Amino acid sequence: MSIPTPAVPSDQRARVAAERSVTILGATGSIGASTIDLIKRERASYRVEAVSANKSALALAALARELNARFAAVGDPAAYGELKEALAGSGIEAGAGESALIEAAQRPAQWVIGAITGAAGLKPTLAAAERGAIVAIANKETLVCAGSLFMRRAAASGATVLPVDSEHNALFQAMSGSRREDVRRVILTASGGPFRTASAAAIRAATPEQALKHPNWTMGPKVTIDSATLMNKGLEVIEAHHLFALAPSEIDVLVHPQSIVHGLVEFRDGSLIAQLGSPDMRIPIAHCLAWPTRISGPAQRLDLARHGTLVFENPDLERFPALALARRALEAGGGAPTVLNAANEVAVAAFLGRGLRFLGIAALVEATLAAAARRGLTREPTSIEDALGVDHDSRLLADELLPEIAAKAF
Ligand code: MG
Repeated sequence: MSIPTPAVPSDQRARVAAERSVTILGATGSIGASTIDLIKRERASYRVEAVSANKSALALAALARELNARFAAVGDPAAYGELKEALAGSGIEAGAGESALIEAAQRPAQWVIGAITGAAGLKPTLAAAERGAIVAIANKETLVCAGSLFMRRAAASGATVLPVDSEHNALFQAMSGSRREDVRRVILTASGGPFRTASAAAIRAATPEQALKHPNWTMGPKVTIDSATLMNKGLEVIEAHHLFALAPSEIDVLVHPQSIVHGLVEFRDGSLIAQLGSPDMRIPIAHCLAWPTRISGPAQRLDLARHGTLVFENPDLERFPALALARRALEAGGGAPTVLNAANEVAVAAFLGRGLRFLGIAALVEATLAAAARRGLTREPTSIEDALGVDHDSRLLADELLPEIAAKAF
């Protein structure tokens, strides 16, 4: 009996045979570190074209030397001197500023890992898609703030978009070889965060220290707080809408505290296909780096018998209103998801700085969305500049509303 394999276009098979060239945007962050860990384990299979970082010039130079990259770029122009000096005598070119990040994305690498954090990732990630690269996307803002534009440009250039985020990567894997019209719905899983079983009163009193204790994943503070509010899952619903051209009603969320099943796809015949794995980002990143084949990965193997029981439950939108807000922003469309994302960033920073209560995060996002709609900020962005403009104006608006929301008792 033959084992069916997903349909792979013949040119993709040919590409796999040769050494793969990779550019890593956001090389000094946590996704960048996991990517580099995998590349170092398969040194002969990958050539690194370019690496980038925001300001960490010394760490970037060390990575560029170690990986024998051709080009290293820092986003912050003030870090250029340090980078240039640290690369002296290596033959590696140095660049700085937004144009250098875009140049890094445009250089001839087959794969671009788009792992820049925040709005700074928009233009470089788009530049990679516009030249038809295989873009492994980890930058949320590109999809949340400019998802329609990004997917349109990627389709026009023939780029391949591979999702790095564990949930979307799971959906991508589960859908492989299937026809879009056979997919009935997808389910993103959420760990539920540290307050999954907490009472409303405990959530009301939640401190940054409590919110930063994620049960399963080790991540940066922003996404850890987003996991505690479930806003992270809301943003992921928006991402799934763009990545897989799904209607909001075709995207469901299930709380699954073990973080073993990362995503499920339901087909029209009633089949449900899930992807499972240890909560280790090197699994989805390895999938992207090796696609459409596989490479060996170091992640811990799943021992399902040890887990014994996997639990699934519906999210509680009363205790976690951020998820409902994100859905509403997606349904409103246009610039509403950009406003949601920007207001949430302001709110999370205020919470971490003890200037806002935990429930104030969703309240500030809700108030900003309402005010933005009144001010016409929720139009559909027609360019990256437009999306960045909505992002900027929404931050100002959230800053403006912050004192009033912070003063409220929840
Ligand atoms: Mg995720």
